[in-house]
Amino acid sequence: MDCLFCKIVEKRVPCDVVYEDAYAVAFRDIRPVAPTHVLVIPRVHLAAIHHLRDADISTVGHVMLAARNVAHQLGLDSNGYRLVINDGDAAGQSVDHVHVHVLGGRTLMWPPG
Ligand code: 5GP
Ligand code: ZN
Repeated sequence: MDCLFCKIVEKRVPCDVVYEDAYAVAFRDIRPVAPTHVLVIPRVHLAAIHHLRDADISTVGHVMLAARNVAHQLGLDSNGYRLVINDGDAAGQSVDHVHVHVLGGRTLMWPPG
C-alpha cells in the first residue's frame, strides 16, 4: 500500500515528530495553518472516518487521547485548541490515513470555511 502517513509511521519519510506512543504518532504539519499545527495519526492504516468499523474503537480512542497529550505537551490546553478531522472530498481530506489536526496558538474562528 502506498500511503504517505504509513511511511511516516515507518520513518521512511522525514518529518518533525513531537509525540509518539504505542498507538499514535504526532508530527508537525508541513503547511501549518496555525502557530501550532500537529497531525496525530494511528500507527495502523485506517483510511477515513467513514471506513471505521466497531473493532477500530480502541485505536481511535487512543488517537484522541494522544491528541490530548500533544496539546498538553505543547502548552495549548491553557488557552484552548481545536481538533479537526476532515472526512472525504467535500471536507478536503487529502491523505487517506485518518489524522487529527491539533490547531492552537491563536484564536480560532467559528464556523470554519
Ligand atoms: P487533510 O487535508 O487530509 O485533512 O490534511 C492533510 C494534511 O497533511 C495537510 O494539512 C497537509 O499540509 C499535511 N501534509 C501533507 N503531506 C505532508 C507531509 O509530507 N508531511 C507533513 N508533515 N504534512 C503533510
Ligand atoms: Zn496509511
